[in-house]
Amino acid sequence: MMIDTEMLIGGKLVKGDGEAHPVLNARTGEIIAQVNDATTVQVEAAVAAAKKAFETWSRTTPAERAGLLLKLADAIDKEAEAFAKLEALNTGKPVSRMLQDEMPVGSDCFRYFAGAVRTMHGLATGEYLAGYTSMIRRDPVGVVGSITPWNYPLMMAIWKLAPALAGGNTMVLKPSELTPLSTLKLARTIAGIFPEGVVNVITGRGPTSGQALISNRDLDMVSITGSIATGQRVMEAAAPTLRRTHLELGGKAPVIVFDDADIASVVEGIKTFGYYNSGQDCTAACRMYVAGKVYDNLVADLSSAVKSIKYNLANDDDNEIGPVISAGQRARVKGFVERAAASGHIAVTAGGREVPGGGFYFEPTVVANALQSDEIVRREVFGPVVSVTRFDDPEQAIQWANDSDYGLSSSVWTKDVGRAMNVAARLRYGCTWINTHFIFLNEMPHGGLKQSGYGKDLSMYALEDYTVARHVMVKLG
Ligand code: NAD
Repeated sequence: MMIDTEMLIGGKLVKGDGEAHPVLNARTGEIIAQVNDATTVQVEAAVAAAKKAFETWSRTTPAERAGLLLKLADAIDKEAEAFAKLEALNTGKPVSRMLQDEMPVGSDCFRYFAGAVRTMHGLATGEYLAGYTSMIRRDPVGVVGSITPWNYPLMMAIWKLAPALAGGNTMVLKPSELTPLSTLKLARTIAGIFPEGVVNVITGRGPTSGQALISNRDLDMVSITGSIATGQRVMEAAAPTLRRTHLELGGKAPVIVFDDADIASVVEGIKTFGYYNSGQDCTAACRMYVAGKVYDNLVADLSSAVKSIKYNLANDDDNEIGPVISAGQRARVKGFVERAAASGHIAVTAGGREVPGGGFYFEPTVVANALQSDEIVRREVFGPVVSVTRFDDPEQAIQWANDSDYGLSSSVWTKDVGRAMNVAARLRYGCTWINTHFIFLNEMPHGGLKQSGYGKDLSMYALEDYTVARHVMVKLG
């Protein structure tokens, strides 16, 4: 398999001049490539190339930009298998999941924004003051720096690129140092389609190359998906020039299960939506509140369902989930579970241990009898671990669900439509699913409240975030 390790700066594929660091196969722990960090000089060159390209790219028509986005979507479809295999090699995700779930929605995201930008209109134009005509323009923000995480490396790159490019911005994108390969392959594809400097991709670690990028004073906006701590760095670095920020910083999704819910579909749902991508998902269904009447049955059924999840099998087609991304992430997950188990009141009713071997596997785990004050209920684990908390008062369940620093997504499970709508209206989360969880659409916004950040990915709302409403007034006569 050909592995790209070069960055894209000003239309040229170049190696980083900084320190090399290994990129691993999370299924085996083996090194698959060495990728060099971008130096500060290279980061500056990438931003300068984006700034120069902005002069012409920002004046292209929506139809011209849409044409290139559609070409990119076609190129990704053509190489879907190669992208899927490369991402799987690095992250350990089952190739089948990449091919069925991530690749089609990824190319469709470019197609969605190609269409969306052509239908983006200003508000009414007219004489709001006698003798003057006012009109509203939506113009690009400028040069956007984007930072992506390791849980969905290619898809997050696409979520950042598509609305920003459609809106007429130019970009410098930095993937996670743990998972740069699919983005570097995308960079090569982009180099063959987009004008020089419109998209630049740099590699490197967060505190070095990432910090150099977010501190560059020529950026007009920074968008990031990552941890709260990195979101805080982005805001600090934005302060001197007051640039725009767009933050997606994780979650701790509450799942409220009422006593009239269809328990079989809750179990099936949480088995899928709590453990997909090994729980390394900011919307993972990881924090359950279950009505007392159905609690014992649900814990028993969920635990046996979770024990049946297939992973670490030699034939990758049989795997439902992969490992976690790194030894460090696994140690972090293990620490959460061990501290929970040591609490005295918690029962680990499925999994709970590292899987021996070179890969970074952790057993799919259910942590029952958790209390609202427990660390496992309050902090983001980002691994295959779901906590279950019993409630007897529905009002208490809503309060517990909202009692979180995070505010990204949530779900409610009940057969009573009125109750579902009432709870959905009261939950302070960017998304509430009813009798399901975790379903994303390119047409619908994704983004949070509270410390989950702000700014929307996907949908027309993302296009609004990556453009600025401007007022132009003409004096008549
Ligand atoms: P992270 O925030 O450190 O990394 C995400 C991205 O930010 C990477 O590209 C990284 O290089 C970059 N980065 C880090 N420090 C930076 C800095 N100072 N300046 C610029 N860029 C910087 O996340 P992590 O350490 O990989 O994971 C830690 C935790 O974050 C996870 O356990 C999870 O809880 C959370 N997380 C959330 C998401 C999400 O989808 N919201 C994704 C990844 C991680």
